[in-house]
Amino acid sequence: MAGSPSLKRRGLMFVLSSPSGAGKTTISHMLLEADPDIRLSVSATTRPMRPGETDGVDYHFLSDAEFDRMIEEDGFYEWAQVFGHRYGTPKGQIRAALKEGKDFLFDIDWQGTQQLYQKDRQDVVSVFILPPSLEELHRRLSGRATDSAEVIESRMARARDEISHWAEYEYVVINDDKDTCFTKVREILDAERMERTRQTGLIDFVRDLTR
Ligand code: 5GP
Repeated sequence: MAGSPSLKRRGLMFVLSSPSGAGKTTISHMLLEADPDIRLSVSATTRPMRPGETDGVDYHFLSDAEFDRMIEEDGFYEWAQVFGHRYGTPKGQIRAALKEGKDFLFDIDWQGTQQLYQKDRQDVVSVFILPPSLEELHRRLSGRATDSAEVIESRMARARDEISHWAEYEYVVINDDKDTCFTKVREILDAERMERTRQTGLIDFVRDLTR
């Protein structure tokens, strides 16, 4: 599924963004499970761990002081304040891995996407996932019956704020059915892997073909 697997190619930075409630986490998990050639770029965050999350898997959970230190040491590819907490992409081995043809999935917001565009436009492929309707978004963000109207309204306001950045993305997929949405996201990834300039092995391949 990964274009021409035998040919050398440059990896890509596959960005998935969406408002919460659009199903991005489900799509990300499906993609990571189905495709061994893409791995998650695990972000660092100062927000508290939620039940079910694991340090080092979902996020690197850092204190404010630890996050400050990473900034000072220039340890982030990008970072942003998102709804009261800080989130950042550790530099790690991303550049070296891209050269080796490894792809990374980024679950980051619009601010992080803008920073990746500025640093490394050619390696970024960005996808925005939209919910199918306002009613469905409201239903998904309503959560537990005990949530107050204020809590739900503040989630809806955040979602509206995220959605307002849809036009900054290359691809937009509406998630009305998770399997269909996943198939579309995967098609985008497969097509982008075959983009000519990413297939660095083509030069030798074609030279051999035309000898
Ligand atoms: P949550 O706290 O629900 O996991 O994530 C809140 C928001 O932060 C989501 O929109 C998510 O995409 C964004 N986010 C997560 N990691 C990063 C990151 O490393 N950088 C940026 N800019 N945003 C992130």
